[in-house]
Amino acid sequence: MISLEDARERILARAHVLPSEKRSPLDALGQVLAEDVRAGFSIPPSDNAAMDGYAVRADDTTGASPEAPRALQVIAELPAGQAPTLAVAPGTAIRIMTGAPVPPGADAIVQFELTDEPADRRAAPRRADRVAILVAAKPGQSIRRAGEDIQAGEVVLTKGTELRPAEVGVLASLGLTEVAVVRRPRVAILSTGDELLSPGEERRPGAIYDANSYAIGALVRRYGGEPIMLGIARDRVDELVARVRMGLAADMLITSAGVSAGDYDVVKDVLAAEGEIGFWQVRMKPGRPLAFGQIQGVPFVGLPGNPVASIVAFEQFVRPALFRMQGKTKLIKPEVEARLVGSASNGDRRRCFLRAVVSRESGDYVARITVGQGSGVLSSLARANALVIIPEEVSRVDTGDRVRAQMLDWPEVE
Ligand code: AMP
Ligand code: MG
Repeated sequence: MISLEDARERILARAHVLPSEKRSPLDALGQVLAEDVRAGFSIPPSDNAAMDGYAVRADDTTGASPEAPRALQVIAELPAGQAPTLAVAPGTAIRIMTGAPVPPGADAIVQFELTDEPADRRAAPRRADRVAILVAAKPGQSIRRAGEDIQAGEVVLTKGTELRPAEVGVLASLGLTEVAVVRRPRVAILSTGDELLSPGEERRPGAIYDANSYAIGALVRRYGGEPIMLGIARDRVDELVARVRMGLAADMLITSAGVSAGDYDVVKDVLAAEGEIGFWQVRMKPGRPLAFGQIQGVPFVGLPGNPVASIVAFEQFVRPALFRMQGKTKLIKPEVEARLVGSASNGDRRRCFLRAVVSRESGDYVARITVGQGSGVLSSLARANALVIIPEEVSRVDTGDRVRAQMLDWPEVE
């Protein structure tokens, strides 16, 4: 048996960063920049008003107070989106809206609240060509400086940055319609087993619906890949070979089931014949049997058949590989330390993953083990939000123990 870390390292050693592609910023959400992004211009492009009010010369307002206001002549209005055509000469002001460029001559913006312009102008009409300033303005007041956000020529986002909504906004603010990002991995997914039906097919005795393709497809998509659904292969060599070949254009090929020691576990034999595949017993539970290797250069992972085992193994081995292929660097799932409620034993000293519900209670995380830990009981994983980890060297855990829990639903951008 090999350790979980050993298995993960061997898989990661075969996971390489994919080439880049051009995408619109919105479509590139979650992808990693393949090159630095440099600003072609400054943002804001010019000094502009941070408040609605009046653009003034601060000198004209020296000593202003509610008792001794300074009257100025209003010579123009400047909404956002327009370039100034007039300068503010001594004794004058321009009525200005947030975001409008500061006109020449002005060095401060006086917000409406510091003038005699009523908050509700319709309630009390005023003379449009005069304003009284009630407080002395300081030079630079309520002005956003050109380049205060981004300087022309600056590297705004560096290669390797994962695009979150804020980065998508930054790219759009630079006027970009395309950006070079690491391509998403295309992952071919194949279920194997004579007993499997596709959802939509009629039920028959002895058959079960294929849960794994869908759970694995969902995991691939959640972790930034594009699933290619190859369907179900029967436990027959010719069918398996034909389906596997359909997946060879992908960046990774994943099968489920057929890697244990049963009579019909032909996956092993077929894969061994088609490529270089190792069959591992990983010291973990659930998810002991695992196949890994490559078929005609395509990395291949053979997950166990039990649905819970295949999902748990995916989280430990495939997720980090997909992240690495996407140029991401935080590969391991987030964990918290929690107080356990429930008990479990670990007789054969494997790394155990117990389905649990983790909640925050009076400043501490509490992990409640869910009912139904059998590796075929998929619904209990659906009710869980975490996997409590029992280390190999611990033979039993009980209520009150401090444990580590892998969080299933925490944001994928850590
Ligand atoms: P195997 O590894 O083929 O012996 O499968 C182990 C167990 O997982 C068996 O009970 C299978 O019926 C079940 N299983 C295999 N593939 C799937 C699947 N795609 N969806 C749901 N259960 C499956
Ligand atoms: Mg089978």
